[in-house]
Amino acid sequence: MFEEAIHTPILRIYDENAEKHGIELYIKREDLTHPHISGNKYRKLKYNFIKAREQSHDTLLTLGGAFSNHIHAVAYAGHEFGFKTIGIIRGERAEPLNPTLQDALNWGMKIHHISRTEYRRKKEEAFLEALKQKFGEFYLVPEGGSNALAVKGCTEIIGDEEKSFDHLCCACGTGGTIAGIIVAMEGHQRVWGFPAMKNGSFLIEDISKLIKEYNGKQYDNWQLVTHYHFGGFAKFRPELVTFINDFKRRHGIHLEPVYTGKLLYGITDMVKRGIFRKGEKILAIHTGGLQGIRGFNMRFGNILK
Ligand SMILES: *Cc1c(COP(=O)(O)O)cnc(C)c1O
Repeated sequence: MFEEAIHTPILRIYDENAEKHGIELYIKREDLTHPHISGNKYRKLKYNFIKAREQSHDTLLTLGGAFSNHIHAVAYAGHEFGFKTIGIIRGERAEPLNPTLQDALNWGMKIHHISRTEYRRKKEEAFLEALKQKFGEFYLVPEGGSNALAVKGCTEIIGDEEKSFDHLCCACGTGGTIAGIIVAMEGHQRVWGFPAMKNGSFLIEDISKLIKEYNGKQYDNWQLVTHYHFGGFAKFRPELVTFINDFKRRHGIHLEPVYTGKLLYGITDMVKRGIFRKGEKILAIHTGGLQGIRGFNMRFGNILK
């Protein structure tokens, strides 16, 4: 099923400001984990799929937004590894289906839209029970795939080489990925999370809880940078689009506008502002999710090159 161990490459990014400040900036290409189970989603799903198989489930149910990388990854992994999949999608159905949901449908996912109000009940027992009544038994992969098994999978992002950096930086949605990175770093170096949504500091509690569920520990070598959200989740401003297009031109690496674009924008801005010290080495985790660019361009008119 999922590979025993995969190791993605680390590349140096020659950013003008980083060079000027004597800082070395690197990017870990987690976007290369798998062609369709991209980036951190590969890490987060691995042990959930193994558990589902152990428990002899044949169906996985999960939840997400209409452009969700998580929905996309679950649909493909289910198709590849022989599980039926059900995707509960936030918000009304729009026609034609966007490329994310069209792929999911093509890979056999049963797509079920619910209102945003209904979606907010995602963690309620009664809500999940109603889904069982409707769809039968399933293995529940929570929204964004974040649970203790996802944390375990994300610890595998970190190997010896990754541990040698002074700062590790990662975009956050539900916080499962950074939780795994924090655990793997075992209190060493500094880990920075960049929430993709407005008012992202609520994630401190969510991340701490995920870590606690996983190994019962607490760490204090991490923090969130909450002001590079560009107006909110999946929101953007023209300078973010310009940054992503420039980054592609200069370094040959695609970023997407929801997570990794904001992350790299934030890091390079912090470098400019002198947050990091001369001689330090920074590792940005490219968490993948490039499939989302298609839907973004469809909505906003091919602005990402
Ligand atoms: C899902 C996703 C994230 C967020 O991961 P969490 O574990 O939910 O914090 C970050 N980057 C990309 C590209 C993603 O698809």
